[in-house]
Amino acid sequence: MPGPQTPPRLDGSRRKGLIIVHTGNGKGKTTAALGLALRAVGHGWRVLMVQFIKGNWPYGEMDAAKRLAPELTIKPMGEGFTWDTKNPERDAAKARECWEFGVSGARSGEYQLVIFDEINYALAYGYLPLDEVLAFLKTKPESLHVILTGRDAPKELIDAADTVTEMREVKHAFAQGVKAQKGIEF
Ligand code: ATP
Ligand code: MG
Repeated sequence: MPGPQTPPRLDGSRRKGLIIVHTGNGKGKTTAALGLALRAVGHGWRVLMVQFIKGNWPYGEMDAAKRLAPELTIKPMGEGFTWDTKNPERDAAKARECWEFGVSGARSGEYQLVIFDEINYALAYGYLPLDEVLAFLKTKPESLHVILTGRDAPKELIDAADTVTEMREVKHAFAQGVKAQKGIEF
């Protein structure tokens, strides 16, 4: 008889779609999500990453995704960093567009993994209601894996998730005045 500490056994043939959160102030939230995407593509899965902040300027991951097409799709739907915004209504509309694109991808059955990159910023700025995100997570296709990234993940999101990793900054080159570098930051 398994005791109360024994983790439930998963039948190897049945996938449990996980809710994974990457949060914290240290570097690695988006890149860890890309690492999982790379792993998933290796199994022939289809992966969709929607990006709430990154826009249409050259990012290494965008060009890498083209090489991993059609398995990997990265959809940059942002326009930069929201704290510089002159137009919060527009940013809110962009965040909604990004959210709805990701949700429809998630519900389409086309993907095994969907990544909402920097969604926590959209939540923190009130561009997206947390309840809507939680409702989606409750009703998502069972076998679909979802990753949500960004600093300051709300407690309710952490509670709803299966796997949560907090990247903690021990050091960052930025503090020495090193600017964002190609291949490392973008
Ligand atoms: P990465 O995309 O490198 O995995 P991230 O997703 O964890 O980073 P974000 O909060 O999305 O980090 O940060 C956006 C940008 O800021 C990235 O270019 C990232 O490398 C950089 N960055 C991340 N953490 C720090 C930090 N502690 N100090 C300064 N810059 C950081
Ligand atoms: Mg990031």
